[in-house]
Parts: sequence; C-alpha cells; structure tokens
Amino acid sequence: MGVLTVKFASYFLPLCRFFSLAFLYSEVLRFGISQLQKSLQESILLWNSALADRNFRFSVWPSLGAVKFSGKVCYPKGFPNAELESIRVFGVVNLRPFETDLTAIEISGPFLRNRQQTGDGIGCKMLDVLVISPHPDDAELGMGGAILRFKAEGWRVGILDLTDGEPTPYGSPELRGQETEEATRVLGIDWRDNLGLPNRSLEPTLEARAKLAGVIRRLRPRWIFAPYWEDAHPDHVAATQLIEASRFWAKLTKANLDGEPHHPERIFYYYCIHLRIIPQPAFILDITPYWERKLEAIRCYRSQFLVGARQEPPTFLEKFQAQAATWGWAIGVAYGEPFASREPLGLTSLRDLI
Ligand SMILES: [Zn+2]
Repeated sequence: MGVLTVKFASYFLPLCRFFSLAFLYSEVLRFGISQLQKSLQESILLWNSALADRNFRFSVWPSLGAVKFSGKVCYPKGFPNAELESIRVFGVVNLRPFETDLTAIEISGPFLRNRQQTGDGIGCKMLDVLVISPHPDDAELGMGGAILRFKAEGWRVGILDLTDGEPTPYGSPELRGQETEEATRVLGIDWRDNLGLPNRSLEPTLEARAKLAGVIRRLRPRWIFAPYWEDAHPDHVAATQLIEASRFWAKLTKANLDGEPHHPERIFYYYCIHLRIIPQPAFILDITPYWERKLEAIRCYRSQFLVGARQEPPTFLEKFQAQAATWGWAIGVAYGEPFASREPLGLTSLRDLI
C-alpha cells in the first residue's frame, strides 16, 4: 500500500488576503489511475463535507501519470465565528510511482482540523440536488430528464438508491449493479451510492432513518427529491416516509448522528408510481432537449425493461413516451416531467414560466 503526500496549494480570494498562501497536505492510499478522478473528487468532498465543494475541475494526464485539479471551496472564517469564505484550490497529483496499485485516496488537512475544532455546521452545499430512489431505475424513470437538465445547468446532482431492487424476474444483484453503473454514466451525475436497505421489505425504521439522515448530513443537498407519497408499491410508500423523517432528523442538534446538522431547503416528489392514477403535479419541467438521453439511461436497465418485456405495441417504452408527451402537451412542449410538493412554491418572478 503506497502512501503519497499531496500538496494542495490554495490562495484566498479576497484581495486583502491574496498573498496568504496556504498549503494543505493529503495522503493518498492505494488508488488506480482509472479511478483517480472519481476517488480524488469524492475524497475532497469528504474532506470538505460540511463546508462546500463545487465546480471542481479535473484533467487527467495519463502520459504524465498526473492529475491536475482546481476548484473553489468554502471554509468558515473567523474561527470560531463560522461565516463562510471562499478559497481557490488547485494542484497536481503525480501518480507515476503509484499508478499500478492505487485504489483509494484519503485526504486530511489543516482546514479539516479547524472545522472539527469549531464544530460549525453551516455551509454551502456539497450537492445541489439529492435524488433518493427506492430502487435503482426509479430516479431515471421519474426524473431522468430533470437530472440531465440540472447537470446541463451546472448543478451538482447525486442519486442515493435505498435498496438494490433485487430479486426481479430477469435481474440479479450483479446485473442490476452493472446496469445502474451504465445509467449513471449516461446521466453524468456527480455522486451515486446504495444505502443497502432490504428490497421488498423496506420500512421507515429508526435505524434506517439514522442511516439516511447521516447521508443527508454528509452530502448536504440543497434540495431533495423523493418518490411520490401515494403508490401501490410498499417500498415506494415506505421510502417517502423514510425520506421525510430523515430530512427532519438531519437538522437536529445534539443528536446521535454522523456529521453536522443540515436541513435541505425543499423536498419535491417525482412520479415513478405503480398506481394507475392521474396526478395533479405542483409543476411540470420541460425535458424536451433531454428526452433521448433519458431514454438511453432507462434502456441501460435491460433486465427491467427489455428482457422478457412485451414486444408487440404498445411496448413499455412506447407507453412511457406517451406519458411524457402528455405532460409535455400540458405545458406546450414535446416532453415533460411532473413533480409534486406538499408546500407551495415560491417564485421571485414569473419570467421563467412557459
Ligand atoms: Zn421502484
């Protein structure tokens, strides 16, 4: 197991502190060059989880065995009065001596120690949007277009699958995992993980609530998306209850939970329902430019929608397309995705309404 010290050079944005160069030192443990970009990004997010980490840019230089990275993070200034201040972070990781057997990275630095000492819980968000999905494929079906739009607009988006979704008639945990990876690549999101709760018997237990609240506190999303609360699938109903309770728990102080308190500002609900109802959404998002790519993500789940599926029209995907077109029709575009909200939506202007 190789250990490498990585030097993070950073400078403070405010001009008065422009010359105040600081160096962060990190340790790199066992990671492979193919996983480098992902590992480094995730590690920086972990290192900086309660603060902020947005818009990191990585460029891999395989010929040099190096990765260049740069980005902006926030950290609390004026310890212990923790207001936020931005810094630019940039550097180069030289992998040449480690590229054969490096598989993970761990980062520590003075800012982390400072944060722990002050115990602040405020901060920018690590993710703008966290989509929580009962099973791998619900997020893609319910809001794949929205996810692609969010990414195109520069937001940081993650998906947390609560279960592995198996067993299913033509799937297996391995195959479903592989399909999920492919769909994740198509969506181009920043983060995805599986909480490992039991499929088909998902329940909003206190244990599951603590687990999910811990993830919310770590990822610090601004908005959460959950499945719609009314459904025939018990896992989906349980997921909604679990997510709402976990969102509340995540903000509690003096709680026996991982991470610092965090309360996602909004929770919206996407429709991936097994119930033949006609929803009354709070809003419909135009996903026309992203429709084909959404379909591409859904097609990754071959074991769910293609293998053994009905071949004569209307096929599953044809019916799915008709639904999206209906929602699009309702707002005067080709394809739309509907969303619900238990609370009214606030607008600063009517300019963006279509
Ligand atoms: Zn599902």
